[in-house]
Amino acid sequence: MTRLLHRALKTPPMAVSAEGITFTDAGGKTYIDACGGAAVSCLGHGHPDVLAAIHRQADQVAYAHTGFFTTEAAEGLGERLVADAPEGISHAYLVSGGSEAVEAALKMARQYFAEKGETQRRHVIARRQSYHGNTLGALAVGGNEWRRAQFRPLLMEAHHIAPCYAYREQRQTESDAEYAVRAAGELEAKIEELGAENVIAFVAEPVVGATAGAVPPVADYFKRIREICDRNGILLILDEVMCGMGRTGTLHACEQEGIAPDLMTIAKGLGGGYQPIGAVLLNEKIHDAFAQGSGFFQHGHTYMGHPMAAAAALAVQEVIARDDLLANVRAMGAYLRERLEDAFGQHANVGDVRGRGLFQAIELVADRETKAPFDPAAKLNKHIKAQAMERGLMVYPMGGTIDGVHGDHVLLAPPFVVGREDVDTIVARLSDAV
Ligand code: PMP
Repeated sequence: MTRLLHRALKTPPMAVSAEGITFTDAGGKTYIDACGGAAVSCLGHGHPDVLAAIHRQADQVAYAHTGFFTTEAAEGLGERLVADAPEGISHAYLVSGGSEAVEAALKMARQYFAEKGETQRRHVIARRQSYHGNTLGALAVGGNEWRRAQFRPLLMEAHHIAPCYAYREQRQTESDAEYAVRAAGELEAKIEELGAENVIAFVAEPVVGATAGAVPPVADYFKRIREICDRNGILLILDEVMCGMGRTGTLHACEQEGIAPDLMTIAKGLGGGYQPIGAVLLNEKIHDAFAQGSGFFQHGHTYMGHPMAAAAALAVQEVIARDDLLANVRAMGAYLRERLEDAFGQHANVGDVRGRGLFQAIELVADRETKAPFDPAAKLNKHIKAQAMERGLMVYPMGGTIDGVHGDHVLLAPPFVVGREDVDTIVARLSDAV
């Protein structure tokens, strides 16, 4: 009997080894990891260069509290992250995961205005169908009411606008350009309603991950969002915890939108699962406000800047660059999309095939014409996950219960080292499971 509280109160299979893109369980059964866990394992499992870096760091300094020391590993990672960051980013703040990064980014944004005496600002605007983490602050900005409902009152004054979700929300008569204006216009209307002087920031995932299944924005949506934030003097926080660090084919997903945020959160693919790590990337103006104000960021975690986590992340990022793996993300992403369209493009119960790079999803519908979702009570996504696991395939299921509105979807986010034959096997097993 297990003494662990498992998520679904049921014990999953026991993983005993993992190498490349394959897991093996205690019964000797193998599974292809077609989702990197939750879009985490970008290099696959057991990469010798990353393991060597972790061993070296463990021998050198395994842990150092950031109140006492910095380390070469943490400094090296900071330097690399800033060198590769979107324009204007000047510093990195290291934490241990995605929710921690989101919490820290929200507090940085709030303290930024407090340093300037604007303490009346307390509203944050986010989007429905987004996921920003499970801690109470992150939960408040996250877009699913069913996740938040039983934890009210929440810790942030968060307000939600519609996501940019073309399959569900773009009108048939509307061009992409018109839709971008309408969807971004929701932000402007919400700022007006709250009073720009009371708003801290807008938070969004450039490509929506877990809650809506790899939903990319329409062209120019984020350019308009950036412009609206600037015009109203509020900060733009991009949450790239899931879609970032190469997953969509560029190091940061926002590069494809031609914009840079004031604050950005990254995690998952940053350490590729070898160690728990996340970061907030912040721009010069936020750093300057702290430097010229209290000289302090009022935050901190015991394990932030963990040397072994930083060494692992640095090694992961070095391998991605050395082996030009983003080129493979783009090539195999295009191939995966093509194969998914072949397999599901005409399927009576698949309404949409979408995504960017190796971040692709299918959305399941009861009726292709009306886009009506399946009854959430049927838990179709969970069934597909179970059917896939039976066939030795790991896929990431979401939807169904999302406020009872949207259909089930299945997310694919395989490691960046995936090859054509792997993609063929993944799509064949998924077709069979669906
Ligand atoms: N933001 C986004 C966009 C995410 O996808 C996630 C995790 N799915 C988080 C934040 C929270 O990250 P973590 O689970 O590491 O706390």
